[in-house]
Amino acid sequence: MKIEQISTPTHETVMSCNDPESGLQAFIAVHDTTLGPSLGGCRMWKYDSAADALADVLRLSAGMTAKAALVGVPFGGGKAVIMGDPHTEKTPEKMRAFGRFVEALGGRYISAEDVGMSPADMMIAAQETSYMTGLPDGPLASGDPSPYTAELVFRCMKSALLQVFGASDLIGRRVAVQGLGHVGRSLAERLHQAGAQLIVADINAEATGWAAGTLGAEIADPQAIHRAEAEIFAPCALGGTLNAETIPEISAAIVCGSANNQLAVDADADRLAARGMLYCPDYVVNSGGLLSVAREALKVTDLDWTLRKLDTAAEKFSSLLAFAQQKSISPVDAADQMVEAILHEARQGPSKERNGT
Ligand code: NAD
Repeated sequence: MKIEQISTPTHETVMSCNDPESGLQAFIAVHDTTLGPSLGGCRMWKYDSAADALADVLRLSAGMTAKAALVGVPFGGGKAVIMGDPHTEKTPEKMRAFGRFVEALGGRYISAEDVGMSPADMMIAAQETSYMTGLPDGPLASGDPSPYTAELVFRCMKSALLQVFGASDLIGRRVAVQGLGHVGRSLAERLHQAGAQLIVADINAEATGWAAGTLGAEIADPQAIHRAEAEIFAPCALGGTLNAETIPEISAAIVCGSANNQLAVDADADRLAARGMLYCPDYVVNSGGLLSVAREALKVTDLDWTLRKLDTAAEKFSSLLAFAQQKSISPVDAADQMVEAILHEARQGPSKERNGT
């Protein structure tokens, strides 16, 4: 088990983790612990290079700091990435080795599932560490956070519809969903129940087949889903899908989805705004899953805690949209300003009580 510290000016701790015995190659990044220990999922993905994996973990962990600050849970931002194909290269030995690396941070990083991970994987890692959430069993277990993530995205879509079209109703609205994984499927089901017409894309044909058969969805090419004629585009796969190439081709008036780091670069928020589109900041609308695992990490036994927090987060998003409109700024700028103010105040003030209520 080899740990190498990587120094960056932006993050508190970044570790390159190698375990030659199991073959695990991973990075863990702790971005900022001003508000509490860092909490964020572990992603497994077939990255082209270690540099790509490192760039991903740095950006994802910074997003978690902002997310926790905005939804008001006493956690900082952290994230882990494991290099490799989750379908063919994941082994119990690698998951246990990952657990040992998490344990080595002594609680400064608490993990959960992200892309390529399941509650069962977290359970294996938890054999080696107590800093693991999103577990399937146990008195505090929160399980898969994805349904909560999908629920908040759904509610935020309704707020966005209200602002753009004057009505939050989804009946007959066309929604293009990119990615039908844990969150995308749950979101698609929720949208279908609400009467929306779905256009879907996934690189996994089984997923699109399910959506066509069960939800009557139209299937689009993964390369072309952003061009679909729809009122809402919901990126629910990987990051970077809103970029200089795709933005001019999007026809939707609203972009609202679960994927982390949807903007390839910060300037893409301006590109979307210049086209008159309402971009709902990813780290705000996809924080439902964080609320689910935060309950477990805080050892809150009241299961309704997450639902109450979800209600508050949905109301906050609605206020954020109203604030941005009133100030003639983008929701991204409004959210960034709020995060900055929260962190600034926390850095000035006495340490906050961390009871999670
Ligand atoms: P997942 O791995 O279950 O699903 C991802 C899906 O995207 C898969 O079905 C995959 O085949 C598909 N996909 C990959 N590349 C694609 C492409 N080019 N075009 C279309 N489809 C593609 O992951 P998930 O848990 O559903 O998460 C989805 C996104 O939401 C990720 O960006 C994740 O970081 C983010 N997110 C998830 C949660 C959560 O609770 N799971 C919380 C916050 C943010």
